[in-house]
Amino acid sequence: MEQISVIGGGTMGNGIAHVFAQNGYKVNLIDIKQEVLDKALATISKNLDRMVAKEKITADQKDQTLANIHTHTSLISGVSNADLVVEAATENVEIKLDLFRQLDKLTPAGCVLASNTSSISITKIGSVTDRPDKVIGMHFMNPVPVMKLVEVIEGFKTDKKVTEEIVELSKKLGKVPALTQDYPGFIANRILMPMINEAIISLHEGVADVTEIDTIMKLGMAHPMGPLQLADFIGLDVCLAILNVLYDGLGNQKYAPSPLLINMVTSGDLGVKSGRGFYDYSHGTKELVVAPNFK
Ligand code: NAD
Repeated sequence: MEQISVIGGGTMGNGIAHVFAQNGYKVNLIDIKQEVLDKALATISKNLDRMVAKEKITADQKDQTLANIHTHTSLISGVSNADLVVEAATENVEIKLDLFRQLDKLTPAGCVLASNTSSISITKIGSVTDRPDKVIGMHFMNPVPVMKLVEVIEGFKTDKKVTEEIVELSKKLGKVPALTQDYPGFIANRILMPMINEAIISLHEGVADVTEIDTIMKLGMAHPMGPLQLADFIGLDVCLAILNVLYDGLGNQKYAPSPLLINMVTSGDLGVKSGRGFYDYSHGTKELVVAPNFK
C-alpha cells in the first residue's frame, strides 16, 4: 500500500494524514470544506514544528511530510488511485453509509476501505458495498500522532488477509494494533464509556464533586486524566452518542446514559469544544477550573 486517502480533515483526519505522511506514504486528504483542509494543514505543520523543536524529526523530514499531503474537496479526484481509504468523517451513520456507497464505485477494485468510526458497526458499513471482505475498522486514538493504539475491527465479512494487512500497516506507522470483533463499542469504548458514565452518575448522586472524582481516578488508578476531564476532551455529545449505541446494541440497562449527561448535551455544554462541560474553558488558560454549576 502506497497511496492513502483520508476522508475528513477534522480532529482525527488531520492526525491520521500526518502519521501516514510522516511515514513516507502519499496522502490525499479530503474534506467537503476548504477551510477545514486549510486548518488541517496548519495544524499538521504546527505539530511537526513541535517535533522539530524537540529534535524528534529534522526540518527536512517536516518538509517531506508536508510534501506527501495533497488536499481535495472532491471525492473523485481524491480516491481514484487509492490503495487504502481511511474514512474519518463526522460520526453519523447516514453520512458514512453514503460515503462508502460512493467509495465502492470510485476506488480501484483492490482498494481496502477502512473506517475510523468510534461506534458504528463495520459490518453495517461493509454491507452497503460490494466488497464487505475489504471493509475494516481502523480506530486511531486522539491525538493520533501521540497515541500508540490502533484498534483494528474485523467486520463479519472482513477477509483475514485484509486484517493481517492492516495489522502490519499499523505497525509500519509505529503504532500498536489490537484486534477486536465487530460488536457495539468494540473494546475501547465498551469499557471506557461505562466508566465515564459511572463518574457522571456518581457526580449527579452527590457522592463526590468534580475535582474529587477526577483526583481519585487520576491518583488512585494512575490515569493521566480523570474521567470527567476526559469526557470534556472527547466531547460530551460523542460520549452520549456512544453510550446510546451500547445501550441500543447490547440491550442492557447498565449502559443507559446518565440523565445529567443528557441534560448537559441538550443544553449545549459539550466540553472543551463548546467552552464548557464539567470544567470551564472560557478563561483561555490551561488551568482546570470546575464549571460554575458544579462548584
Ligand atoms: P470532526 O467533526 O472533527 O471532523 C469530521 C470532518 O468530516 C469534518 O471536517 C467534516 O467537514 C468532514 N465531513 C463530513 N462529511 C464529509 C464527507 N461526506 N466527505 C468528506 N468530509 C466530510 O470529527 P472527528 O472528531 O475528527 O471524528 C471523525 C471520526 O473519528 C468519527 O467517526 C469519530 O467517531 C472518530 N473518532 C473520533 C475521536 C475523537 O476523539 N474525536 C477518536 C476516535 C475516533
